[in-house]
Amino acid sequence: MSLDQTLQELHNAFPQSDQKMPTLFVGHGNPMNAIEDNEFSRSWTEVGHALPKPNAILCISAHWETRGTQVTGMEHPRTIHDFGGFPRALYEAQYPAPGSPALAQLTQETLQKAEVYLDQTWGLDHGTWSVLANMFPDATIPVVQLSLDRTQDPQFHYDLGKELQALRNRGVLIIGSGNVVHRLSAFQFEDIAYDWALEFDDTIKHLIEDRNHDAIIHYQRLGRAAQLSIPTNEHYLPLLYVLALQDRQEQTRFFADKVTFGSISMRSVWIE
Ligand code: ZN
Repeated sequence: MSLDQTLQELHNAFPQSDQKMPTLFVGHGNPMNAIEDNEFSRSWTEVGHALPKPNAILCISAHWETRGTQVTGMEHPRTIHDFGGFPRALYEAQYPAPGSPALAQLTQETLQKAEVYLDQTWGLDHGTWSVLANMFPDATIPVVQLSLDRTQDPQFHYDLGKELQALRNRGVLIIGSGNVVHRLSAFQFEDIAYDWALEFDDTIKHLIEDRNHDAIIHYQRLGRAAQLSIPTNEHYLPLLYVLALQDRQEQTRFFADKVTFGSISMRSVWIE
């Protein structure tokens, strides 16, 4: 098949539309949210009902860090149980959504800032499937993951996110999955949030409302609460991809905005 024919097929699979798919940042938190009936899993179910049906989903998960940027290119991504010490029921949970080699290719072509490598070994990690199992429980919508290049700085991730914009007009739901505040070393079972966690979560909320993306990208300048909330930034970076997609006329609203286990913010953002 010629390159032109392949491109034509791609464009048929993801037709261009005036309608822009909303985009989401989801605080995923505890992997048990995949199978538990709780306030977070219920909010994801509600979001799934409220969204237009996507042609496919592209997820940027905190749990896939690579050298260079990769996109999953397999027909049938496996469900990855990338956690330890949880009940057997969670290890038995599967999310058998198909992949989309076509969307992987479209993503490769759309992103110019980075050379994007096709991956055949990853799959869907819990940053992706714990959320989607509640949002789209039928697992019929194709899902592709985009990795986080761990060698790059936050500005790079924001700029790369901007380039994904065209996919929204092709019915692709782009989800960033992480947590605004994520300090596992301060994890506690009592749901009493640390002051610094509440403070940083609130700071980010206001910066999102003010569309001050520059301050959000340069979070290291936000003081002690930021340092404590982001010991490593893999859970924060997916937020940058989603904020980068906010058009001038688009609004943000929050859901599941709570700090849980002392140091994990579930704050989630819907942009439309
Ligand atoms: Zn996580």
